[in-house]
Amino acid sequence: MRPARAVIDLSALVHNAKLARQHSPEQMMAVVKADAYGHGLIPCATVLQDEVDAFAVAFTEEAARLIDAGLTRKPIVLLEGFLDAAELPFIAEQQLVCVVHSAWQIAALARLSSQQPVAVWLKVDTGMHRLGFQPEQVLAVWQQLATLPQVRLLGLSTHFARADEPECPVTLQQLQAILALQKQLNTSLSLANSAALLSTSAAAGNWTRPGIMLYGANPFPSANRLTESLEPVMTLESKIIGVQTLAAGQAVGYGGHYVTSAPTRLGIVAMGYADGYPRQAKNGTPVTVDGQPAQLVGRVAMDMLTVDITHLPEVGVGSRVELWGKQVSVDTVAQQADTIGYQLLCNLKRVPLSYC
Ligand SMILES: *Cc1c(COP(=O)(O)O)cnc(C)c1O
Repeated sequence: MRPARAVIDLSALVHNAKLARQHSPEQMMAVVKADAYGHGLIPCATVLQDEVDAFAVAFTEEAARLIDAGLTRKPIVLLEGFLDAAELPFIAEQQLVCVVHSAWQIAALARLSSQQPVAVWLKVDTGMHRLGFQPEQVLAVWQQLATLPQVRLLGLSTHFARADEPECPVTLQQLQAILALQKQLNTSLSLANSAALLSTSAAAGNWTRPGIMLYGANPFPSANRLTESLEPVMTLESKIIGVQTLAAGQAVGYGGHYVTSAPTRLGIVAMGYADGYPRQAKNGTPVTVDGQPAQLVGRVAMDMLTVDITHLPEVGVGSRVELWGKQVSVDTVAQQADTIGYQLLCNLKRVPLSYC
């Protein structure tokens, strides 16, 4: 069997959830969208069930996977609400919680005939300028929703655009905008993603929404700041399947992207961009080989990549390579590939997930 795999440490997930819980003054919904950020929705939600007050997913099909697996002890929140009015009977029947961000959704709710009301968070656009009503619309929209027997209002939600930049004043401006509305409506707030929850305690709100921190990646990668002891949950690993010994001046891989400057021993690793390892990763991106630091050289190919093992004479075919995990942070790899840990984690493909 090909040795490439992602090992998911469920006890690390629980550890991180307990940490998120410590930063959540009241309730916490664990964000498990995108297959739990690539970690496998059902195994992750199973161990998180006892740690969280609700699960949050992006859309109805993701919620249906939880329901099909019997994971219905905790409420399931749809962060984008319904995307089509045809989802509403299912949502009402399953008692899914909807974020309502647009007038068309309110019109659809008003047409719904259902015995049980749908629980709703009203989404406010306080500066992200993605989904949500403008602050000046909110009082009228709230009154409108309050008259609908199909709706049970839970509170106001908003999403921070720049909470991962702890010194950026935008988060406090967004917070002030939503607090002003809350004062008038005297209702619950759901505000904080991982970065806000770790950096701006005033922004926690009544319901926090941690995602990335549950998986042990750093919500502040560009700020190089993390004070909490998050444990990486995913380890992406494989093995060396071939060794090359090259003289100085030899080009390695597609495009001759890397040329040896001295006699070099290379390990060929069974891992490529078809597995979700980023093709953009630069020469020098860190890995470990049998636990010892080494570096990527040459272009990442579809099924293989190359690491320099000149300084590690004892490693060879069969040696274990960690691409990211507890020894190599996914955030470091992401930086080397001009992206973020989020994208690497949820982009994993083809490699089997195993759980420990
Ligand atoms: C994805 C998402 C989150 C979680 O964000 P993290 O940065 O992963 O903690 C929270 N709220 C909303 C609305 C989201 O879409």
